[in-house]
Amino acid sequence: FDALTGLPNRRMFHEHLRQEMKKTDRSHLPMALVFMDLDHFKEINDTLGHDKGDLLLKEVANRLSSSVRGTDTVARLGGDEFTIILSELRNASDVVRTAQEILKQMSTPFNLGSAGDKHVAHISSSIGITLYPEDGADAETLIKNADQAMYAAKQQGRNRFNYFAPFMQEATRVRMTLVNELREAVNHDELRILFQPIIDLASGKICKAEALVRWQHPVRGLLNPAEFISIAESSGMIVGIGDWVFKQAAREVQKLQALGLPDFQVSVNKSAWQFRDDGSNYQQWLDFLQELHLNANSIIIEVTENLLLDTANAVSERMLAFQHAHMQISLDDFGTGYCSVAFLKRFDIDYIKIDPTFVSNLSEGTDGVVLCEAIIAMAHKLNIKVIAEGIETPQQLAALTAAGCDLGQGYLFSKPISGEELEKQIKN
Ligand code: C2E
Ligand code: CA
Ligand code: CA
Repeated sequence: FDALTGLPNRRMFHEHLRQEMKKTDRSHLPMALVFMDLDHFKEINDTLGHDKGDLLLKEVANRLSSSVRGTDTVARLGGDEFTIILSELRNASDVVRTAQEILKQMSTPFNLGSAGDKHVAHISSSIGITLYPEDGADAETLIKNADQAMYAAKQQGRNRFNYFAPFMQEATRVRMTLVNELREAVNHDELRILFQPIIDLASGKICKAEALVRWQHPVRGLLNPAEFISIAESSGMIVGIGDWVFKQAAREVQKLQALGLPDFQVSVNKSAWQFRDDGSNYQQWLDFLQELHLNANSIIIEVTENLLLDTANAVSERMLAFQHAHMQISLDDFGTGYCSVAFLKRFDIDYIKIDPTFVSNLSEGTDGVVLCEAIIAMAHKLNIKVIAEGIETPQQLAALTAAGCDLGQGYLFSKPISGEELEKQIKN
């Protein structure tokens, strides 16, 4: 057995797996092999120390064991890798339910402190699933495929599960090509930047814009961020791309402020990955603004809620550095994550962006209206301005205006447009 968790170790797992496969051959009830890897465990271990790391692994083992049936096997493969054999499945939905339960269990904060010291670790997990006999006839293939499915889950943004499917090998190949092409794109000036106007709802005037990146691919045409941001993140290229976007954004603000709009701001998206390493590029950003004779608050940084919760990686601390330098912070996709009011207060957020999913639910007498009203009222109490995103219809706009929303963004006003078009729209 594994000394730390008391779970079966790698060798025992291999034995179990072969037994379970035989059982499956007899009963013809399929079996699932589930690989789970913690996201960011290494960082937690480095930050909080090995003792806490060990404590976390023990607690992970407990939660895993309680997430499965008594007949299933949970084993530790080593490090932060665990595996679960779900035997004699009667229903395909059993696998999904277990995977979802594990995701939930792992993303529920872990309390690693004793009475005196509070240490809460926020973590999540990536899960790969293979089925026997569908995905492989022998143990080696099954393990390899489960591992690949898990890896794909990580690549696709973590905190999720993935089934192994044969086309995944193809997906891996495509991905590798894209990584190389993206590297070229950065050197060959293939990135573009668009700006989506943000409207002051009281005056109807454009007062800000969000910078959104595009990739002018030589063969595939104009690509949206959905097609390359996650590759940029997992390959580390997002840092360079983010710096480039920031500079373009700053230059555009400079133009617009010079056109007689001294308070114009442009927001840029900054993902957790861009706060990794030492996150020290904020000094370079500030220097660049100074070079252009711009105030720090000419740029708004858009981050997502979950980034604030990322205390383990010190991401949130790095974000505070930007705030101390008087850059403003906007909380993107609000309502879709796990942010609490306490965090909003702690981080002294300047704007909240209500997620489009809430805005699209805005018709009279629905929950959507009540939700938006509640978010807006709470934000205003905390001195936070509200930007509603994804406004597509006059009805939505009317409901938001009635609810006291400050700012709006969406196709009703404008799609993302080039800098020149933005200048034109503003002059009109
Ligand atoms: P986001 O920050 O939530 O950006 C808003 C997205 O919603 C944009 O998609 C925008 O084009 C789209 N949108 C705006 N109004 C409407 C509307 O009325 N209806 C609908 N259906 N959609 C609307 P886009 O440009 O494809 O960007 C997708 C995501 O990519 C962004 O989501 C952001 O998370 C990420 N992203 C974009 N540029 C950057 C960047 O420079 N750096 C980083 N890290 N992420 C970026
Ligand atoms: Ca955004
Ligand atoms: Ca958003």
